[in-house]
Amino acid sequence: MRTSILAALPARTEGTVLGRRFFALAIALTLITPAGCSSADKPITVTRPALGTVVTINAYGENPRDVNAAIEDAFAVISAVEAELDAYSATSTIAAINAAPFEWHALPADAVEILDAIERLGVAESFSPTLLGVVKLYDFGGDGHVPTEGELSAALQTASMPERDDDRVRFLGIASSTAEPGLDFGGAAKGLALDRARDALNAKGAVTGALVTAGSTTVTLGSKPDGEPWRVGVEDPRDATVVRMTAEWTGNGALSTSGDYQHYFEHNGVWYHHILDPKTGTPARGTRSLTVVGRFSGLDSDILSTALFVDGPDAALAYATAHGLGVYIIDSEGRTHLASAPADSSISLSEQSE
Ligand code: ADP
Ligand code: MG
Repeated sequence: MRTSILAALPARTEGTVLGRRFFALAIALTLITPAGCSSADKPITVTRPALGTVVTINAYGENPRDVNAAIEDAFAVISAVEAELDAYSATSTIAAINAAPFEWHALPADAVEILDAIERLGVAESFSPTLLGVVKLYDFGGDGHVPTEGELSAALQTASMPERDDDRVRFLGIASSTAEPGLDFGGAAKGLALDRARDALNAKGAVTGALVTAGSTTVTLGSKPDGEPWRVGVEDPRDATVVRMTAEWTGNGALSTSGDYQHYFEHNGVWYHHILDPKTGTPARGTRSLTVVGRFSGLDSDILSTALFVDGPDAALAYATAHGLGVYIIDSEGRTHLASAPADSSISLSEQSE
């Protein structure tokens, strides 16, 4: 288990729940490929380790060679985002910034895009890309550690939003013995990378429809040859073999799920997971799983699934309704809340009975 979506693959796939979520998506995807259809109607499917998880591209198009070339382009741009934003890589642009956090650094364009999106979406109080030192305290990738009050307050102090001057950034805090400040775009980078992949698939016109998924975030492009909708299943947060909700739509769209079961440990009967409330540095309570779906970018969906998870079910439902998004929540009591996308009746969310 690792703490970032950009963490190294082996740690993320050793029987972690992310792997199981992927399995649930795979179930949903197999349902939508009708048996006996001609090969021209079948997608070319390529699955590779990337973004600390497994990325699958399903792409439709007339010419298999051109479709394959577009898929290669898509994986290349995913790697480029990873090379910039992976806080856990020794060689990424973000790692270089985090190595000397109190000096001015030029922000990579991908990071600027994420910071601008957080502001535009109005979720800066619940989505913070500076929690690296706080996340690390929990040692989700190792044995799990419950931070002391002192550790938490020191880490939160260093995590306070850095000074930004256009596209430059530096932290203002002081390093403590237990925490270093650091940028962590792990809650958004997957969405951004999938947007770039979709652009690459679309660039040369060879791909008529595609679904790109990194497990917890999925983006779609265009449509399937038979006009059937894209379909994505959301698993039960405590039983990955069970699909709790199925979202369907045609055309471009995005879906992200944030769950308390991706990276977690239990200590003295308390469940500690990787989505933290920036105000307290402790795991956000109130929600087990939150999915947003709509006609927005993968980036927006990824930011919002994390931010609305932190906000809690009531605020999340209010935000989704006000912004025309579909949302599906399983709260900490196991109760479900579903709001269809009011702005778009062609997006359907249906809950499976338990
Ligand atoms: P996943 O990576 O499992 O798809 P998310 O998109 O919700 O899930 O991102 C969770 C990751 O984002 C955490 O592993 C951590 O690196 C970071 N993170 C945790 N809490 C927050 C927060 N409140 N705001 C921004 N990033 C966060
Ligand atoms: Mg997210």
